Amino acid sequence: MSGDFDPAAIQVTAGHFIAGAAIGGGETIPVARPSDLVDYAEIPIADGGMVDRAVGSAHAAVAASGWATRPPRERARILRRWAELIEANAEELGRIEAVGSTRPISQAVTGDVAATADGIRFFAEWADKLGGEVAATRSDNLGLIVSEPYGVVGAIAPWNVPLSTASWKLGPALAAGNAIVLKPSELTPFSAVRLAQLAIEAGMPAGIFNVVQGTGVTGDALTRHPGIGKISFTGSTRTGAAIMRAAAESGIKPVTLELGGKSPQLVFADADLEKAATCIAGSILANSGQGCVAGSRVIVQRPIADALIELLTMKLPQIRPGHTWKAATDFGPIISDAQARRIDRIVTASREQGGEVLLGGGLMAGYGGAYYQPTIIANVTADNAAVREEIFGPVLTLQLFDTEEEGFALADHPEYGLAAGVYTRDLGRGLRAVRQLQAGTVWVNRYSRTLDFILPTGGYKSSGIGKDLGRQAVEQNLRHKTVLIDI
Ligand code: NAD
Repeated sequence: MSGDFDPAAIQVTAGHFIAGAAIGGGETIPVARPSDLVDYAEIPIADGGMVDRAVGSAHAAVAASGWATRPPRERARILRRWAELIEANAEELGRIEAVGSTRPISQAVTGDVAATADGIRFFAEWADKLGGEVAATRSDNLGLIVSEPYGVVGAIAPWNVPLSTASWKLGPALAAGNAIVLKPSELTPFSAVRLAQLAIEAGMPAGIFNVVQGTGVTGDALTRHPGIGKISFTGSTRTGAAIMRAAAESGIKPVTLELGGKSPQLVFADADLEKAATCIAGSILANSGQGCVAGSRVIVQRPIADALIELLTMKLPQIRPGHTWKAATDFGPIISDAQARRIDRIVTASREQGGEVLLGGGLMAGYGGAYYQPTIIANVTADNAAVREEIFGPVLTLQLFDTEEEGFALADHPEYGLAAGVYTRDLGRGLRAVRQLQAGTVWVNRYSRTLDFILPTGGYKSSGIGKDLGRQAVEQNLRHKTVLIDI
């Protein structure tokens, strides 16, 4: 188990990582530690020229190394070796992640870094299992459907779980034979560079995995670059829409978009209430509510509402807040002061619209960083700000229903459809919920993103297009060429 450590002792490579080397230069911006908001490093901002250099190096590496055409077992071997090195350097990677993000060290090493290695290993195993098809054509000609990589994939990642979300782009794209240029979030830029250095150590040819640092301006330049064959993005719905527009305007590039959510948890009167309360609390406290699948809308059948509220108001305060470099911390900061103030504005607006705050409802002082209290708001309707907007903080809303149909109707969000949970002992009702709920993932009698990489994850409606994880993620990094041979 990881112990306390000194955040000032953390060394990061501050720069882009292109063709196997760290590169700096140009305009820079400071990077703060979310736990105490102390600036601890800087990153350069990649302009169009730097993005061009990264994409050019990726194309050159594909051509020189035969990454796409070499026996796929070789790609698999390098990816597996990479996973081993990630594990061997877990403590260092975990510390970089914990200092620079909202992830407590207790979860960064055994959770995020371990999952990153596992994910890379899972995708490595797909590399040599990606055959094409022989088609039964109408003529006696030979019809083939051949799978080919896009060439260079552009990946853009968010700040909330930086390593894992990046690895979900890297694993499938690289296993399928693409090179990749990754732009991490400007708020959490450093773990990706360490990952790229370890890839080189594992034998990945220089230039196959490049990192460019920067803000949305860099992300836009990457999306629009003519050398990018496909875009894979995780982040907000608003940015996803901008990326989709830019991808359309710059060559009709395919996009995979993993976007925002406002996921419901539907609790029926016949549910195992203790289990439901534990799952709900776990889902909204994870990463201090900064999870795309956070089950933030609790929708409960009237007869058990009081009992559920009692359990939640008991469980939610059971947190150990603190700096992310303290081993005992299990509840970290909000990513930035601006984001914490946004959470507070939505809670205030919810109150003004009639919301009743049963627990929390304010910032927590005493850490230097921005921490928000676990919060429950009751007496809200579908148009209340806290029910409508993705808050990305530890805030639950509570809505009551009588009939199954009312419950399903409340669960439906006009914009989002990322995930949903349903708690019931009635198998038929659970299956009706699976059919009714408009969400990319539905959990029955549990709630969490499973780390089973065979299960794809992605959204319905404005929560996204396409899937991360699973066989589907690999397939989305391939395009298909039809071949007809006159024999
Ligand atoms: P964001 O959209 O603000 O930023 C994400 C990334 O996009 C960053 O790297 C940013 O620099 C870049 N970016 C910003 N503007 C851009 C532009 N015009 N063109 C290209 N790139 C641009 O999101 P965030 O605040 O970093 O992350 C939180 C959001 O991510 C939440 O909405 C959350 O639900 C979502 N998320 C979704 C999933 C999922 O699997 N569906 C997983 C994690 C996070």
